[in-house]
Amino acid sequence: MKVYNFAAGPSALSDEVLEAAKQQMFDFAGTGVSIMEISHRSKAYDAVHNECIALIRELMAVPDNYEILLLQGGASLQFEAVPLNLLVKGKADYVVTGNFSKKAYMEAIKYGDIVCQATSEDKNFTYIPDVSEIRFRQDIDYIHITSNNTIFGTAYKKDSIPRTDAVLVADMSSSILAQQADVSDYGLIYAGAQKNVAPAGLTVVIVRKDLIGHEMPLCPTMMKYSTQAKNNSLYNTPPCFCIFMATLNLRWIKKCGGVAAMEEMNTLKSDMLYDFIDNSAFYKNSVVKKDRSLVNVPFTTPSQELDAKFVKEAESAGLIALKGHRLVGGMRASMYNGMPVEGTKALIAFMQKFELENK
Ligand SMILES: *Cc1c(COP(=O)(O)O)cnc(C)c1O
Repeated sequence: MKVYNFAAGPSALSDEVLEAAKQQMFDFAGTGVSIMEISHRSKAYDAVHNECIALIRELMAVPDNYEILLLQGGASLQFEAVPLNLLVKGKADYVVTGNFSKKAYMEAIKYGDIVCQATSEDKNFTYIPDVSEIRFRQDIDYIHITSNNTIFGTAYKKDSIPRTDAVLVADMSSSILAQQADVSDYGLIYAGAQKNVAPAGLTVVIVRKDLIGHEMPLCPTMMKYSTQAKNNSLYNTPPCFCIFMATLNLRWIKKCGGVAAMEEMNTLKSDMLYDFIDNSAFYKNSVVKKDRSLVNVPFTTPSQELDAKFVKEAESAGLIALKGHRLVGGMRASMYNGMPVEGTKALIAFMQKFELENK
């Protein structure tokens, strides 16, 4: 039975990417061993490391005045690295649109004068606040947003991000490479890799060069962007295998037509599912339509009992990891780049069948 994995993260990688990894598992680049077993200072590894950075630059059209860093510690470590590196005047404004942006805000308040300028917590994070209405403070170091809210299934659209003179920082963990973003709109982008880039263990940071080197004195050496930039992210041992997997995945994305093609496919999948849910009296998605995520689709049946039954029976049908996050309940279908259109179609077919049997 074909299994479709709807996990929110770590999440599905394309079969082609896994196949490529399998083929090189016992002999990477003629070394006779796997990439996991060679020095991060070797020529063979260096080629992968640099290709990974070059492919991110190419696929996201990262301008030359930005540094691309391959780090560890997940997006969660960036919740602290961002304020430690970017607070110079000591002030930043946050928009809280979910659990992760709340965590980012809670970490930042330890390091400066940090204000939450808007939150959608009043309606359990089912919408994105209208940021054009917010009067962000003058003289701040940055504004922090979470581009796609993985748990709640909301996302900023290109025309709904804050447009101010302030440096914009975005947690793009669940939308990086899944939809297009104009890097020059941001001073810094960070993303844990395990949703769309690679297995868990890698964090991608894209940061404007003029923002590097102003870190607070207490910033740990390992967390300084300047340390990592100076050393091409090879200050210490990087997560070599994750970076290798990221490179294979980036090659695959390029072959498929780049981020534009990914966005088109992700739009097709999520539109199909949203249309089906909206036309059904049985299933429901509570997110404000204009703020819906392209990759994470939460939904419910008429009761918690049926939700539980749905998750169980879907799993038996090969549609796995559909249980919603505990903060939302119900189900959540995460459909990142690695989810083929057939997976979404299989989910909708199952939903139709389940509805007929249970309404
Ligand atoms: C998953 C996720 C995180 C947490 O990432 P870690 O790499 O596990 O620290 C943070 N932000 C968003 C938007 C996420 O989806």
